[in-house]
Amino acid sequence: MGTCYREELVGVFGCPIDENPTVVVAQAAFEDLGIPYRYLTVLVYPEDLGTAMSALKALNMKGIHLTIPHKVEVLKYLDHVACDAQIMGAVNTVYVKDGELYGENTDGKGFITSLKEEGITIEGKTAMLLGAGGASRAIAVELANAGAKKLLIANRPASGRGEVLTDLIREKTKAEAEYICWDHTLAIPQEVDILVNTTNIGLYPDTDQKPDVDYNTVSPRMTVCDVIPNHPHTLFLKEAEKRGAKSIDGLGMLVNQAIISFRFWTGRTCRAEVMRKALSREYGIE
Ligand code: NDP
Repeated sequence: MGTCYREELVGVFGCPIDENPTVVVAQAAFEDLGIPYRYLTVLVYPEDLGTAMSALKALNMKGIHLTIPHKVEVLKYLDHVACDAQIMGAVNTVYVKDGELYGENTDGKGFITSLKEEGITIEGKTAMLLGAGGASRAIAVELANAGAKKLLIANRPASGRGEVLTDLIREKTKAEAEYICWDHTLAIPQEVDILVNTTNIGLYPDTDQKPDVDYNTVSPRMTVCDVIPNHPHTLFLKEAEKRGAKSIDGLGMLVNQAIISFRFWTGRTCRAEVMRKALSREYGIE
C-alpha cells in the first residue's frame, strides 16, 4: 500500500487573524492523537466569506472555526444551525457532513466545562457577567441552559448591548435576567455565586488593567472567572483571590471549546493537558 500524503484540513477564518494562537493548540492535540490533520490560519475578508465557505466543500475540508468578524454573518451560508447557536445568533465552529455545513457555538460550552472541571455547580446559582459582547452572549445562554437561576448582566450604557442580552435571556431561556448599568465602580451583590469578566479588559498588552469593580464586595464564597486567555492570571483574578474567592482562568474555556470543536471534526477527544501545555509554552508562562 502506498504512503498517503493527503491531510485532513480544518482551521480558522478571520480578519484580522495573524495573532490567533489556536493553531498551536490544534497541532499539539492532533500530533498527540497521531492523526493527519492540518489547522490553517486563514485571512478571509468580510466580502469573501461566502466564497470561503463554499471552499470548505470544494476542498473536502472537515470544518472551520470562525472568529471576528464572521461569527454572525456565517449563519446565512449554513445548511443547519444548532439550537443554542441560533439563540446566540453566532457560530464559531462549522463541520462538514455528507456535503452539508453544520454550525455550532462551542465558546459557552467550553466555559461551562471549565467550571465543571473545578467542581462548580451551576443549577440554581446566580451569575453576574461583566460585559455583554460575543463571549458574554455565548456564556450567558449556556449558563441559562445549564440551569442557572438568575443572570445579572453589567455593561456600559452607550452600546445598548447589556439590555439586548438581558432581553434575549428573558425571552429565550428559563433563567431570570437583570441588566445593571455599569457607569460607576460596580459593587458585587452578595447574592452572586459566580462572577465572570467577559470584557477584554486585561488582555495582553494591557495586563495592568482590571474591570472597575469594588473588589472589597467580592466574598470568599464566590467563584470568580475570567475569559482572558493571554495572560490568563489577570489582575481581576488576583484581586478576587486576595478576597478569598476561588478563581478560574480563561485557558480552560479556550482549551475546552477547542476540544468540543475538534470532536466535531475528528470524532476523537483531544487531551486537555497537552493543549494547555502547548499554549502556556507559547505564551511563555510555564
Ligand atoms: P466584544 O467586543 O464582542 O465585547 C467586549 C465587551 O467588553 C463589550 O460588552 C464591551 O462593552 C466590554 N468592554 C470593553 N472595554 C470595556 C471597558 N473599558 N469597560 C467596560 N466594559 C468594556 O468582544 P468578545 O466578547 O468577542 O471578547 C471579549 C474577550 O473574550 C476578549 O478578551 C477575548 O479574547 C475573550 N474570549 C476568550 C475566549 C476563551 O476561549 N477564553 C473565547 C472568546 C473570547 P460595550 O458594549 O460597552 O462596548
